[in-house]
Amino acid sequence: MARLVVGAHDHGVHPFIVQLRSLEDHTLLPGVDAGDVGPKLGYNEADNGYCSFFHVRIPRSHMLSGLSRLDRDGTYHPAVHNKLIYGTMILVRNRMSRTVAFQLAQAITIATRYSIVREQGAIEGATVPTTEETSIIHYRTQHSRLLTRLSHAFALIFASETCGEIYDDLIQRQSRPSGPDHSTLAYTHATMASMKAYATSLAADGTEDARRLCGGHGFVSISGLPELVTMVFAATTFEGENYVMYLQTARYLIKCASTIRRGGTVPLQIFGKVTTDGTLPMCRRRRRRRDRSSSIQQSSKKPLNIEPFDLSSTQRGHSLGHSRRA
Ligand SMILES: Cc1cc2nc3c(=O)[nH]c(=O)nc-3n(C[C@H](O)[C@H](O)[C@H](O)COP(=O)(O)OP(=O)(O)OC[C@H]3O[C@@H](n4cnc5c(N)ncnc54)[C@H](O)[C@@H]3O)c2cc1C
Repeated sequence: MARLVVGAHDHGVHPFIVQLRSLEDHTLLPGVDAGDVGPKLGYNEADNGYCSFFHVRIPRSHMLSGLSRLDRDGTYHPAVHNKLIYGTMILVRNRMSRTVAFQLAQAITIATRYSIVREQGAIEGATVPTTEETSIIHYRTQHSRLLTRLSHAFALIFASETCGEIYDDLIQRQSRPSGPDHSTLAYTHATMASMKAYATSLAADGTEDARRLCGGHGFVSISGLPELVTMVFAATTFEGENYVMYLQTARYLIKCASTIRRGGTVPLQIFGKVTTDGTLPMCRRRRRRRDRSSSIQQSSKKPLNIEPFDLSSTQRGHSLGHSRRA
């Protein structure tokens, strides 16, 4: 990617294809310097390189002109929509959300298996006395951390499927025979940007927690967790550092808010689907929350009907229906 400058006019960043090496002996061409960035914190299976150019000329035909193009006489034809260049990024970011969701699920699977076979201490206050140690999955803290992270993995998978539908809808609109419709492009870009940031941050926290749930064993490479953790951590940076991704969505929302304030209209998608009764789910949720909180206030004097936690049910093989030997 490089800036396209024609005379005194800077048309912004555009993609070009550039030959780096000689086709004869594979040496770098004059003015080109390139190499590997060296070992990284993780994600070392990918070769990330650097490249610099000093007075390198390439023909005009080496500009990738799918969206915008430059004529021989210097006339510039911009893309129909200035955000069309985001198309591939939107797709990749959506795929990333799905990938990290499965990587989180992988890490939680490892941690869950470990938690079943690993025995450590005995649960204090157990009604059935035992001399045996207990699988760590029977500790409520371990159990709840595992299930919470597992639920995140499922939620991210479902959310990325919905994002996939939003993306497919955009592609269908853009390739309509009656003429391209880019009206949902900005919304899709903003949604995928924050989804990428949210999914990778949640998955990064979750895989790291999965590693810690395996104690010292999780730090050992053979557990597979250190590689998973660094792979997911890398995803919080590439294809756009997460903080910047959230800013992209924030900018879109602020623009929508300004449009509404000026009396204009914004795409209805930002409120979610419109329901059959014509209300927006967001408004209905707010109404339900309000109704619920007033009913809680009314019933706050009633005694709480909470079952005490039955420690005997947490004995090996009881609460989860299986044991290490099962
Ligand atoms: C493991 C790995 C693999 C990668 N693979 C590839 C690849 O295959 N191809 C490729 O092209 N790139 C790749 N990258 C590069 C990656 O896309 C960039 O590192 C990433 O987009 C962040 O850009 P940057 O490094 O230039 O950060 P910088 O722009 O230097 O940003 C640094 C920090 O500055 C702040 N910042 C930057 N811009 C803004 C802003 N507008 N507003 C507010 N704060 C801001 C943010 O806090 C940000 O984290 C890879 C990176 C990693 C870590």
